[in-house]
Amino acid sequence: MALSRLLPRLQSRPEPDPEPVEEEPVEAVEEPPRLQAVPEPVAAPGAESALMANVIALANQKGGVAKTTTTLNLGVAMRERGNRVLVIDLDPQGNLTMSQGMNPDAIERSMFDVLVHRVPISDVIKSVEVDIAVASIDLAGAELALSALIGRERALDKALVEVRGRYDYILIDTPPSLGLLTINAFVAADGVIVPVQCEYLSLRGLVQLENTLAMVRENLNPRVHVQGIVPTMYDGRTLHAREAIEILEEHFGDLVYETRIRKTVRYAEAPVKGNSVLKYDPSGPAAQAYRDLAKEVLDGAKARDDA
Ligand code: ADP
Ligand code: MG
Repeated sequence: MALSRLLPRLQSRPEPDPEPVEEEPVEAVEEPPRLQAVPEPVAAPGAESALMANVIALANQKGGVAKTTTTLNLGVAMRERGNRVLVIDLDPQGNLTMSQGMNPDAIERSMFDVLVHRVPISDVIKSVEVDIAVASIDLAGAELALSALIGRERALDKALVEVRGRYDYILIDTPPSLGLLTINAFVAADGVIVPVQCEYLSLRGLVQLENTLAMVRENLNPRVHVQGIVPTMYDGRTLHAREAIEILEEHFGDLVYETRIRKTVRYAEAPVKGNSVLKYDPSGPAAQAYRDLAKEVLDGAKARDDA
């Protein structure tokens, strides 16, 4: 059976050690404990606040797996639960920006200027359902422009220093590739959430994604890891979708969230109105699915904090 052919591929991959071996010393350097006593919650630009945002990249190099949909709706659901949330549109297609009713072609300054010209990220943040750092079409030139710069992989991480103290969660929507923009997201992130379409061809890309993450861990950001996998566009009526979930769980165990994001046209309708699905159809099952996911993600974060 076609699905079973995935097994040896996924198994044959040497599991990268999920333990971020260097984590403690690195964190100790970046966040000296005494900073936690700083009473002022609004940090001056450049200063790091005691309460730092948890930065999560939403990534999968495959397009159309619901990265953008998940970034927005998870962000809005986290906000509903009282968190301060920033979402960042790091995809030159600007779908996240559009899904909050803005036109990327009409945007003057965007993440391009933040990454390439070191414009403060607060200059490109708009407050809509959540705060959103917007993309414009010129972000497509960012990889080329960045490639000539020293520290090109750390541009986003540096830009986030300004706002890490102002948010509880920062969610980064990434383009469908493992290029420099996605690498920037991995370098800035504490964790990566991978939306996966429930079909077996989608699962194969996870190996490549893990390889890239392992490289980033080794060279640039020892703390980054896959924190969860979200099965999306799930159609429980098909055997194929159920098998895809089985394979995911077999190989990634607890990393697979229990929430299934089902296939429904609501997710496509909402962005046309410039809304999240939580605003578009607040009491519908599509909105509830992302509330369930938010609860799982937040419970996971809390469990780690308490550990
Ligand atoms: P990506 O950012 O990974 O390319 P998107 O979030 O843009 O993916 O989703 C791709 C398309 O699928 C969009 O038109 C979106 O509205 C739609 N979509 C997202 N999630 C679902 C779902 N659970 N069911 C049906 N359609 C979905
Ligand atoms: Mg997208």
